[in-house]
Amino acid sequence: MAVRQAAVHLIGKPGLRIGAEEITESSGGTVEHVYAATGQTTAPVVLAGPSEIDLAVTTARAAFPKWRDTPVNERRDILLRFADLIVEHATELSDLQTLEIGVPVQLSRQMPAIAADWVRYYAGWADKSGGDVISTWPIRSLNYTLDEPYGVIAGIIPWNGSLMSMAQLLGPALATGNTIVVKPSELAPFVATRMAELAVQSGLPTGAVVVVPGAAAAGQALAGHPGVGKVHFTGGAVTARSVLSSAAEHLTPVALELGGKSPHLVFEDADIRFAARVAMSGVIALSGQGCANGTRLLVHKSVRDQVLDILVSRLRKTKLGDPADEATVMGPVVSHNACQRILGVIDRGRQSGNLVSGGNRSGGDLSAGFFIEPTVFADVDPAAELAQEEIFGPVLSVITFADEDEGVALANDTRYGLGAYVHTNDLRRAHRVSRAVEAGAVWVNGAPGLMPSVPFGGVKQSGSGRIGGLAGLREFLRPKNVWIPV
Ligand code: NAD
Repeated sequence: MAVRQAAVHLIGKPGLRIGAEEITESSGGTVEHVYAATGQTTAPVVLAGPSEIDLAVTTARAAFPKWRDTPVNERRDILLRFADLIVEHATELSDLQTLEIGVPVQLSRQMPAIAADWVRYYAGWADKSGGDVISTWPIRSLNYTLDEPYGVIAGIIPWNGSLMSMAQLLGPALATGNTIVVKPSELAPFVATRMAELAVQSGLPTGAVVVVPGAAAAGQALAGHPGVGKVHFTGGAVTARSVLSSAAEHLTPVALELGGKSPHLVFEDADIRFAARVAMSGVIALSGQGCANGTRLLVHKSVRDQVLDILVSRLRKTKLGDPADEATVMGPVVSHNACQRILGVIDRGRQSGNLVSGGNRSGGDLSAGFFIEPTVFADVDPAAELAQEEIFGPVLSVITFADEDEGVALANDTRYGLGAYVHTNDLRRAHRVSRAVEAGAVWVNGAPGLMPSVPFGGVKQSGSGRIGGLAGLREFLRPKNVWIPV
């Protein structure tokens, strides 16, 4: 299996583009990107260090007044052009996404259109958001709010889907008049860099979007930079603590979009085949490396065997392979380190659950890549690592419950609260359980994916921020209140 040469050509020359400057030697050093499907290196990646982060923030700050003062209809049109450019470059972007993290083209081909929709949705808000007029009894006054941008947004994003992360961040941040510095992971620098080029091509002022791939030190420097108005962090809960402490230096506000341990709750009255199919996607989609993937399957004891049989027989037929092959359903995990870490969790998991499917790194043609078989543990101890930790790999933990109360209690027995999938044909139960589960999003009988118009985010240690909808727009605005006595 060869790295797709076509996609390698798309990477362009290594370097950091910060406003008008091209930087080839950086204080952050250089790493080699590795294609997860083959273990082969693809291209060197120049990483930002603290001095490049400083330059990036300074550049975005310089661009801020011009972008803030750009009439909102022009802002809207620039963002609409950006969305069109994403669609025009769809194949290139999806090839890059596949090369970057090994996501099968079957999935990456769908991403540019969805990303463009996110940008279009927020372009639509650019000329519609305004403030409120507020009554101030018994004082007679005109009191109103001005919704103002923060200035420079620091977007720190994970590696597991830069195309979507960039659209979800750039859309609302730019529509509201902020400028933005995005720091992608060193594992996934290409898509974000290309998206920034397209954003600039669409007519943004130079410096309004700066992308600086980097490692942890760059993230720390960005979150702690005094020129940043707000940090928008997407990533893991451990990193979030470090981001909060960096931002604490200047009391910079932080929005957190973190991980999860989202449950599927399959009740005895559910459509069992359908529920098993949806649960399967939690293991397969992005090789289990999606923040909202359902990774705990909580199933009523009366349907446990039926659900498991369907699930396991389908997973055993799942085609793992070359992500560039249109027939491939599941690709590798992102890196050698991730692969070793996940295999370690699987090994330890044998003590706290019964391995009923998978459990191994794939061999044969796939042995050079970081492929792990879709893995299912049944009868998992709810207190064990398998049931409590975000594994971020293709591992599903199955736990049975006896009644609705126990099911909900198990669903909530985690420090996370991102999503919850409820499978039932009882309408009252659907409403009751949706209220009772501690999660930022509940999907009843299937999950249509993240929509730009719908707010998404977590509770508990899954975060506090929201992407999508009006709530997602408000993350990038702060109200200023004006009193005028009359
Ligand atoms: P991560 O926390 O390791 O890294 C996220 C980003 O933070 C990367 O850019 C990384 O370089 C940077 N970083 C690392 N250390 C830092 C530090 N000390 N200070 C500042 N920045 C630092 O996460 P990851 O492995 O890239 O991504 C996987 C995680 O992201 C999972 O937990 C997943 O659930 C979560 N995620 C959440 C959402 C959501 O919308 N809620 C979406 C995608 C991914």
